[in-house]
Amino acid sequence: MATAPGWFEAGALVAVLTTQPLDRTLDYRAPEGGCFAGAFVEVPLGPRKVLGVVWGAGEGGYDLAKVRSVIRVLDVAPMRDEMRAFLMRAADYTLTPLPAMLRLATRVPGMGDAPSMRKVYARGVGDPDRMTDARARVMDVLDEQDGAVFTQKELADLAGVGVGVVKGLVAQGVVEERETPRDLPFSRLDPELPGVDLTGDQAAAADALADAVRAGVYGTTMLRGVTGSGKTEVYLEAVAACLRKGRQALVLLPEIALTAEFLTRVQERFGAMPAEWHSGVTMTERRRAWRMVGQGGAQLIVGARSALFLPYRDLGLIVVDEEHDTSYKQEDGVLYSARDMAVLRASIVGAQVVLASATPSLETWANVDAGKYRALTLTSRYGPAVMPDMRAIDMRSEDLPGSRWVSPTLQRAVEARLERGEQSLLFLNRRGYAPVTICRACGNQIGCDHCDARMVEHRFLKRLVCHQCGETKPVPETCPACEVDGKLAAVGPGVERMGEEAALLFPDARVEVLSSDMYSSARALKARIAAIADGDADIIIGTQLVAKGHNFPKLTLVGVIDADLGLQGSDLRAAERTFQLMRQVAGRAGRAEKPGVALLQTFQPEHPVIRAILAGDEDRFWSAEAAERRAAGVPPYGRMAGIVLSAPDVQAVFDLGGDMARRDGPLRRIGAQVYGPAPAPIARIRGRHRVRLLVKADKTAPLQVALAEWLRQFRWKGDIRISVDIDPQSF
Ligand code: ADP
Ligand code: ZN
Repeated sequence: MATAPGWFEAGALVAVLTTQPLDRTLDYRAPEGGCFAGAFVEVPLGPRKVLGVVWGAGEGGYDLAKVRSVIRVLDVAPMRDEMRAFLMRAADYTLTPLPAMLRLATRVPGMGDAPSMRKVYARGVGDPDRMTDARARVMDVLDEQDGAVFTQKELADLAGVGVGVVKGLVAQGVVEERETPRDLPFSRLDPELPGVDLTGDQAAAADALADAVRAGVYGTTMLRGVTGSGKTEVYLEAVAACLRKGRQALVLLPEIALTAEFLTRVQERFGAMPAEWHSGVTMTERRRAWRMVGQGGAQLIVGARSALFLPYRDLGLIVVDEEHDTSYKQEDGVLYSARDMAVLRASIVGAQVVLASATPSLETWANVDAGKYRALTLTSRYGPAVMPDMRAIDMRSEDLPGSRWVSPTLQRAVEARLERGEQSLLFLNRRGYAPVTICRACGNQIGCDHCDARMVEHRFLKRLVCHQCGETKPVPETCPACEVDGKLAAVGPGVERMGEEAALLFPDARVEVLSSDMYSSARALKARIAAIADGDADIIIGTQLVAKGHNFPKLTLVGVIDADLGLQGSDLRAAERTFQLMRQVAGRAGRAEKPGVALLQTFQPEHPVIRAILAGDEDRFWSAEAAERRAAGVPPYGRMAGIVLSAPDVQAVFDLGGDMARRDGPLRRIGAQVYGPAPAPIARIRGRHRVRLLVKADKTAPLQVALAEWLRQFRWKGDIRISVDIDPQSF
């Protein structure tokens, strides 16, 4: 499927790639008026109309009389060659069919409709017959909200008056009602506004990044520095350099709860709000962002990993903040790593990538080592704040009753903070009340009906929840297995249960449990986090949500309830994740003037990972971890792919998996090995049985090409689904 640039006259044969699951392009005739290569079009497919992109010249070689015509060309800029190249390379890299890749790039409702109009209200020229208080308030709001878009109702609400007041003013021409296209460009950001005075370290890093951005070529830089060292200030300077050059910048954040704080910083630095792109953005705003990104009406985009698939007009910089974060790996549908895709996209358009983190991923370290990425390091926290003092609490010598998790040592530390009016964070990476509900009569653990997973009790929701498929059910009185009443017991702690324990231990403290499922919207959660950071709680109990990015200036103690949690299981990345998470959580303490302490409750203080965390010795941790992975030949020192087959019928997936393992010629030819089939880490999800094959190859082997050839040998009959995961998170 080669791309051919250029223009197609009406009636010319064009090849259209649709978002339908077909393995090739389809030929159509260019519509009346012709079309460009890259045009977004609507085409007939059987009885339906589907979305597609003109991919190049038609291929012909069949009855030309039967070729149908493109129905219409959508009212959006054609897809650029660069974007088409990106989608094709991304499809090859992830072994994803191209139509599925195209779907990622076109998931915008009404993207091609002509921009509809909406009303804007502004000060008009008319004189009011008389000026009441209510009317004056409306005028004040109009002055404050310069250039903003309202409905009459919104305007009235903002002014705290009835709609009648607004209507009266409109009738007299005091308030003018105008129509403008709904898709307004975003406000201009001004890169010339002054930033903070950077320290020597920061300025050196900022200059290096700005120079790279000015050069307008591809390059990737790891920007490493402890939380609070000023990484954000530094990469905002790279953004400024990019905006000055007239190119667009993209900042990816791992968590939408973090965007509010970041948007405020952008506004302070550049005088206006950037465009946002994530699941919390309304459909109308999404459509506006998509179109404006393509037209150049958005200079800076702040968003989630899917923002990598926007149709940028001229992308010059991609920042991946907290680049080590596991949420950058898409684990549903098209399996891709936002970090890899950022590098791929940037290399195609000649953009710079900044990978910022206090605890970079081993992948990134390895690329720095190999000379592929550049490294910039900020060595100290900005201002007086220092990394907290980290200590282990050896749980083997703590006197603790059953069903209690706060050790006496940790309790005393929290009490000391309460006396001084400082905040404490109790960190536990487990949502809900208790991870297990067990019957004390028969030992049955309540599991999900559709998955190979335990149901987690959520008292806040008053239900049992499956964290795999989201299925919920009421907490039963009677054990579903033995039918004995009143014997079901919650086992183990979740954050909700920690909230109960904290309320008991610290009756006078304001305790706040912060977990994503307790808030109806990202906005509500953001607002609450901001209030807490301002001092609206004494003890915060939270999941990894609070480990990420947010500043809590009054926080001086972090208690990690179960530092061993991430070290269990067979996951080879467990050590890396635990190390990163613990360092991040600890980084929450002592961000302002007050020094912080992090206390890690552990049953294995001699574990190498725990020791590396306590010593704060990153280099030692990474070299030990790298040596282990190198010896095992696993990523980033070897290449891996996970192939998951799933179907309602367990035999069918094992049969196909066995067949695949036997017919491994194309893989053997590149020296790769196949392991499995074995039950996948979660052997059943939503009623589908899952088996996994792992393919392991040398770093330099052409893994994707061999995988594609291998997979082509098989047909997926019936209800079998396959997904290919390059560099899986766990293996
Ligand atoms: P990081 O991204 O590494 O966590 P930030 O850039 O968020 O660090 O910096 C932490 C805090 O210190 C922020 O409030 C930031 O505005 C402030 N800060 C960092 N460097 C400076 C500086 N040179 N001058 C003034 N404030 C700074
Ligand atoms: Zn389930």
